Order: sequence, then structure tokens, then C-alpha cells
Amino acid sequence: MCKFYADSMLGKLSRFLRFLGYDTLYRTQESINEMLETAREEDRIILTRSDEIIQMCKKRNLHNLFITNIEVSEQLKEIKASFSLNIVYPPSKMRCSVCNDDLKVRNKEEIIDKIPEGTEKNYNDFWECRGCFKIYWMGSHWQDIKKTISEINSSE
Ligand SMILES: [Zn+2]
Repeated sequence: MCKFYADSMLGKLSRFLRFLGYDTLYRTQESINEMLETAREEDRIILTRSDEIIQMCKKRNLHNLFITNIEVSEQLKEIKASFSLNIVYPPSKMRCSVCNDDLKVRNKEEIIDKIPEGTEKNYNDFWECRGCFKIYWMGSHWQDIKKTISEINSSE
């Protein structure tokens, strides 16, 4: 399974890749050199909209992809075409959109104190991040995710 390192300005794309289960780092405080070093050490594909960084990747023989589009669904199509990503809804595996750690399935009873009151009436499936303990459920924003995923898959 591909692992990614998304350059700054690709935050939305990073969160999406994490939802789809792809191990994805996102550059915020790190320098470009730190990103390139980590990508080498951890065998990550650099995703960027910078020509300069693409040139640096080529010099250092790092896997890279220049992202041409601004829309996240178009960006995902570019990545899917280049690396044969498996993009399905719902994803078979998800990672935390905040910290990139794995999510584990939790029973409603175990996390009832950690979700907004009433949420438990509307949803049955919950996940918890192993790293930052954020709780996830397939709330209303999942409709947008589902729509984006069907857009990506319909245009083949
Ligand atoms: Zn987390």
C-alpha cells in the first residue's frame, strides 16, 4: 500500500487520503529538506504543487507526483491514475484525519461519554483513534465524502 507525504497546501487531500486508509503525512512546520529526508527513510511518495520540489525529488531519486488540480476530487483522480489506488466507499480501513494513526472499532457503550448527546441514537458504528483518541462516526459530512468518491470512480 502506498504511503504519502503531502506538501503544505494539500491539507484537504491529506485528510481524504487518511479517510481512505492511506498512511499520509502532511507538511506544516517541517522544512522541505526534512520532508524529503522522511520520505526517503519511510519510502513515501511526495505529493506537491511545487515545480521546485519536483526537481529536488528527481535529483534525489524520490517517488513524487506533481498535483496539477485544485479540486480534491480531481487531485485524487490524479493520484489514483498514477498509483492505482483502491478508492471505495466505505473504506475498508481508515486512519485519523488529524494525526494519521489507525482507527479501531469501538462499541457504543464504550465511548458514549465522549460523543455529543443524542449522537448514539442516530449512529451505530464508531471508531476511535489509537493515537489522539478522537471518536469518529459516519455523520453528515460522510455524505460529501461518499459523493466525492463516486465522482472519482464514475469518470473512468
Ligand atoms: Zn488521531
